[in-house]
Amino acid sequence: MYYSENKIGKIEVICGPMFAGKTEELIRRVKRMEYAKKKYLVFKPNIDNRYSTCEVVSHNKKRTNAINIDINNPNMVSKYITEDISALVFDEVQFFNESLLNIVKDYASKGLRIICAGLDKDFLGNPFGIMPNLLALADEVTKLTAICMVCGEEATETQRIIDGHPAYDDDDVVLIGATESYEARCRKCHIVLHHE
Ligand SMILES: [Zn+2]
Repeated sequence: MYYSENKIGKIEVICGPMFAGKTEELIRRVKRMEYAKKKYLVFKPNIDNRYSTCEVVSHNKKRTNAINIDINNPNMVSKYITEDISALVFDEVQFFNESLLNIVKDYASKGLRIICAGLDKDFLGNPFGIMPNLLALADEVTKLTAICMVCGEEATETQRIIDGHPAYDDDDVVLIGATESYEARCRKCHIVLHHE
């Protein structure tokens, strides 16, 4: 019997390119639950150690505590979930394998609120991992945009830059970006190089 069993669960997805403020929006929703005295758990993939191993931190340094979960074994979230938990929050959700989809569905049908934030597209502009499926399961999708660092228009793409030049399409998909190697770009300024 879950705390929220009499409630209708909900799946919310926050997506967009890098630097769109996805994690900031996730943390904003988390803080609102705090004010409402709701209990929640925040999870993040164990590969993302950019700022902290036990926190989710946005680019503007807002933070919340988080539990690291193995991307290949998202089922381990269940061992943290107690009856008083009303929401599950996932950051960088695009990195988890597809078993996360059933977890999200199952807990939403038990009445929990699920909040996921992640990149909808990789640096080639292609759908990222489980995101297409997650977006289909979502009850509410928030697509955020960033600002193109070339022309100042709305940015929907993530530009990968290696040694000052746009990346090639057969360069390995690097999972986590730093400011010096990724930029938000609009469709027009987004460049992917192809080998002949
Ligand atoms: Zn542009």
